[in-house]
Amino acid sequence: MIKKFIRKILGVKSKPENNGSGVNGANHKPTVLSAKEHGIDPKLLSSNAIRVTQTLQENGFKAFVVGGAVRDLLLGVKPKDFDIATNATPEQVKRLFRRAFIIGRRFQIVHVMFGQDLLEVTTFRGAATEGALKDEHGRVLRDNTFGEQHEDAVRRDFTINAMYYDPASQTVLDYHGGIADIRKKTLRIIGVPEARYREDPVRMLRVVRFAAKLQFTIDAATRAPIPVMAPLINNVPSARVFDEMLKLLMSGHAMACLQQLRKEGLHHGLMPLLDVVLEQPLGEKFVTLALANTDERIQQGKTVSPGFLFASLLWHQVVEKWDAYKAAGEFSIPALHLAADDVLNTQTDSLALQRKIGSDMRDIWAMQPRFEKRVGKTPYKLLENTRLRAGYDFLLLRCASGEIEAEIGEWWTDFINGDDIERERLLTIKPKQESTGPAKKRRPRRSGPRKPDSASKVSE
Ligand code: ATP
Ligand code: MG
Repeated sequence: MIKKFIRKILGVKSKPENNGSGVNGANHKPTVLSAKEHGIDPKLLSSNAIRVTQTLQENGFKAFVVGGAVRDLLLGVKPKDFDIATNATPEQVKRLFRRAFIIGRRFQIVHVMFGQDLLEVTTFRGAATEGALKDEHGRVLRDNTFGEQHEDAVRRDFTINAMYYDPASQTVLDYHGGIADIRKKTLRIIGVPEARYREDPVRMLRVVRFAAKLQFTIDAATRAPIPVMAPLINNVPSARVFDEMLKLLMSGHAMACLQQLRKEGLHHGLMPLLDVVLEQPLGEKFVTLALANTDERIQQGKTVSPGFLFASLLWHQVVEKWDAYKAAGEFSIPALHLAADDVLNTQTDSLALQRKIGSDMRDIWAMQPRFEKRVGKTPYKLLENTRLRAGYDFLLLRCASGEIEAEIGEWWTDFINGDDIERERLLTIKPKQESTGPAKKRRPRRSGPRKPDSASKVSE
C-alpha cells in the first residue's frame, strides 16, 4: 500500500485516463491546443483579462488566463471572473498597473482593478508541499513558494481547472488531461486523491459543487475517499467552510449541490446548517422553494443577498423555537427575537456567519409578524422600511409554501403597488381569517407583569 503510494507520488505509474500525465508533477510538458482544436470563442473573453495578460507579456513575463475561466471558456460559457497566472512576482505585477494591490499574507496575490472589475493575478506556485507547514491532520497551513508553470499546474485541484489560455496566441496549455476530461464530462483530482483531500479538505466540497454545477460525473478514484475523509472538513477554519458554502449556495445550482453533498455522504454532521436544511421535514417545501428561487435569480444574472438566503434556510428552525417560546408564555414578538437569537448563536459559532449577514437575517425575520397587521398606520410604516423588499419576498415564500394564507401576500402585493386610494380601500378590508402560521397571536400563559425585554423594542 505504502509502496504503491510512493510510486504514485513519484509518478512512476501514470494512469492512462490521466492522458499520460504523471501524477503529482511528473509531466513538465503540456499538450498545446490551437484555436481550431480547442474552439474557444474569443468574444467570451473580457477585455480586461486581455489587457492584463498583454501588459505582462509586453513586459517580458508569461501570462495566462487560468483555472475556472478556461474551463468555462472551453464549455462555451462566459466566465464570471478571470484569474490570471504569471511568472512575474507580486511586486513586479503591482508596478505594471495603476490600481493594483498586493493582498494576502500566507500567499500573496495581486488584485488588479479596472473600474468595478477585479482580476486576481497569481504568481506560479511551487510544487513541493512536502516541506510545507501542516496541521496534525496533514492540512497545509503555510506554503509560500513560487515556482514553474508545470509546478503551478500540479498544485491546482482538478484536471479541468489546470489549463492555461494565452489570449495572444489563442492557445490552451493542458498539463493534466483537462481537455479529455472536459469532453468526457469528468471531474478528476490531480494526484493521489487521499493526499490532496488531506492537504485541503475543502476540495471535497469543491468537487461536489463543480459536479452539480457542470453536471459532470466524479471519477471513481476521486470520489471513493470522500465519505471516509469527510470529517476532515471539521478541522478547516469555519470562515473558509462558510465561503465555500456560500459559493455552493450561490452557484445557480444550490439544490443540486445539496443533493450531491448528501449523495457523497458529505452533509452529515459536517455543518449544522446543512443538517438543518436537509433534514427538516417541516421546512422542506419552504427550503426547496427558496433554493429554486435563488437558483432562478442567479441564472437570470440577478443578485441574491446571503442574508436572505440564510434567513430562508434557517426559517423553520426559527419557527420551531418561536412556537416553543410562545407556548412557554412569551409574547409573540419577543418570542421571535429569542428564537432568532438561539438560531443565530448556534450558527455563528459553527459557521462564522458574518455579523452583517446575521443582522440582515434578523431584520427579515423580525418583519414577518408586522405583515400580519393590516390596519392603521402599521402597513405605511412598513412601506418606509429599507428592507421591505427582502421582507416582502420572504413573506411571498411563506405564502407559496403554504405556511400562511396566500391572501396575505396578495394583499401586500396590492398595497405596495397601489395608489393612496387603493391603499385606503385595502385597509378597510377585513382579512378573511387570521394567519394560521406561527405569527398568530396567542394569549400568553404567563400571569403577572412582564419585564421589559430588549428584544421587544422592535415590536409595535
Ligand atoms: P468558480 O470561480 O467558477 O467557482 P474556479 O475553478 O475558478 O471556479 P476559484 O475558487 O475561483 O474556482 O479558483 C480558481 C482556480 O484556483 C481553480 O480553478 C483552481 O485551479 C485553483 N484552486 C482554487 N481552489 C483550490 C484548492 N482548494 N486547491 C487547489 N487548487 C485550487
Ligand atoms: Mg474563479
